[in-house]
Amino acid sequence: MENSEFVRKHGLEAFMEQQKEKYTCSKCGGIISIHDRKCSECQAKMDD
Ligand SMILES: [Zn+2]
Repeated sequence: MENSEFVRKHGLEAFMEQQKEKYTCSKCGGIISIHDRKCSECQAKMDD
Protein backbone atom coordinates (compact mmCIF):
# COMPACT_ATOMS: atom_id res chain seq x y z
CA MET A 1 0.00 0.00 0.00
CA GLU A 2 1.12 3.52 -0.74
CA ASN A 3 0.82 4.71 2.85
CA SER A 4 2.95 2.01 4.41
CA GLU A 5 5.55 2.66 1.76
CA PHE A 6 5.62 6.31 2.77
CA VAL A 7 5.95 5.41 6.46
CA ARG A 8 8.80 3.06 5.67
CA LYS A 9 10.65 5.76 3.77
CA HIS A 10 9.90 8.85 5.81
CA GLY A 11 8.75 7.58 9.19
CA LEU A 12 5.44 7.65 11.00
CA GLU A 13 5.83 11.20 12.21
CA ALA A 14 6.19 12.54 8.67
CA PHE A 15 3.21 10.47 7.65
CA MET A 16 1.06 11.90 10.45
CA GLU A 17 2.14 15.39 9.50
CA GLN A 18 1.20 14.74 5.89
CA GLN A 19 -2.19 13.37 6.86
CA LYS A 20 -2.85 16.32 9.14
CA GLU A 21 -2.11 18.68 6.31
CA LYS A 22 -4.23 16.66 3.93
CA TYR A 23 -7.26 16.89 6.17
CA THR A 24 -6.89 20.49 7.20
CA CYS A 25 -8.71 23.10 5.15
CA SER A 26 -6.28 25.43 3.43
CA LYS A 27 -8.84 28.23 3.54
CA CYS A 28 -9.98 28.25 7.15
CA GLY A 29 -7.94 25.57 8.92
CA GLY A 30 -11.04 23.53 9.62
CA ILE A 31 -11.24 19.75 9.54
CA ILE A 32 -11.95 18.14 6.20
CA SER A 33 -14.30 15.19 6.20
CA ILE A 34 -12.64 12.03 4.94
CA HIS A 35 -15.91 10.80 3.47
CA ASP A 36 -17.01 13.68 1.25
CA ARG A 37 -13.72 15.63 1.26
CA LYS A 38 -15.49 18.76 2.31
CA CYS A 39 -14.48 21.22 5.00
CA SER A 40 -16.73 20.94 8.04
CA GLU A 41 -16.25 24.64 8.76
CA CYS A 42 -16.50 26.54 5.46
CA GLN A 43 -17.84 23.68 3.26
CA ALA A 44 -14.97 24.13 0.79
CA LYS A 45 -14.58 21.11 -1.43
CA MET A 46 -11.14 19.54 -1.60
CA ASP A 47 -10.25 17.90 -4.88
CA ASP A 48 -7.19 15.99 -3.74
ZN1 LIG B 1 -12.63 25.46 5.49
